[in-house]
Amino acid sequence: MLELPDVEVLRKDLEKEIVGKRIKDVAVQSTGLVKPFHRNRPELIKALEGRKIDAVRRRGHTLFVDLDDEHTWVIDPGASGQLFRETATAEAGSDTHLTVSFTTGGAIHLSEEGSEPTASTGVVATEGAYEAAGVNPDALDPLDDNPTWMEFGRFLAAASSPLKLLLTDPQHVVGIGPMYSDEILWEAGLRHDRGSQTLSTQEVRRLYRAMHEVIFAAMKQVGASLEENEPVEDDEEIAEHLRVHGRDGLPCPRCRRPIVRTRIKKGIYTYRCERCMI
Ligand SMILES: [Zn+2]
Repeated sequence: MLELPDVEVLRKDLEKEIVGKRIKDVAVQSTGLVKPFHRNRPELIKALEGRKIDAVRRRGHTLFVDLDDEHTWVIDPGASGQLFRETATAEAGSDTHLTVSFTTGGAIHLSEEGSEPTASTGVVATEGAYEAAGVNPDALDPLDDNPTWMEFGRFLAAASSPLKLLLTDPQHVVGIGPMYSDEILWEAGLRHDRGSQTLSTQEVRRLYRAMHEVIFAAMKQVGASLEENEPVEDDEEIAEHLRVHGRDGLPCPRCRRPIVRTRIKKGIYTYRCERCMI
């Protein structure tokens, strides 16, 4: 799953490459991809073709590409969607659900394994685009909103929720998923089930610092693989840089005790060190 750092690196890359360009051709392979936004594929194609790109924004893990007609092209990578920059002549792969090419060259491919994508894309009015894309405008985006640690402390106290669930709940926080939430909590030395309202001032500051450190380290890592022209989410490469997530049975980098995998609720697991995270 693409999380905030991955999508922010993509956003910067796209901003550099496509702002000012005009969309030439659009091909949509699966109707499921446009479903939440449009009745059918031609609706999306009509809304995109001929439009110029004004800006590329991000909220959580969703991209908001502003067009020159007060509409915004929303790209939600879903559970496992990937975006690739390609040459205009690059052939669509079997997993490619959408290709968009530009008049001055270059193209974007949206890919996801399987015939029924969890990714979705569509064009909505720029005003109210977050709501139209199902993104809670009041949820915290740690990078975009850039709160002070004191604001973050007030946010934690008001949310009053176990930390792992809070960090991964898009009604509270957008862009942090299963992977970076585990990394942030390990970095902060805090248990997944600590209530956000029970944190001491010192713990709030630790969590705040950990969140920034993990996000910026991940962006650096993802940016480096992008420069080597590799997919943004190369699982193995990113996994090498993870401290706890997906590493059950391996030693904690801080205390060497084996990492354990704990089920929180259906489909949600956390990887943690029982000694370092309290
Ligand atoms: Zn440990």
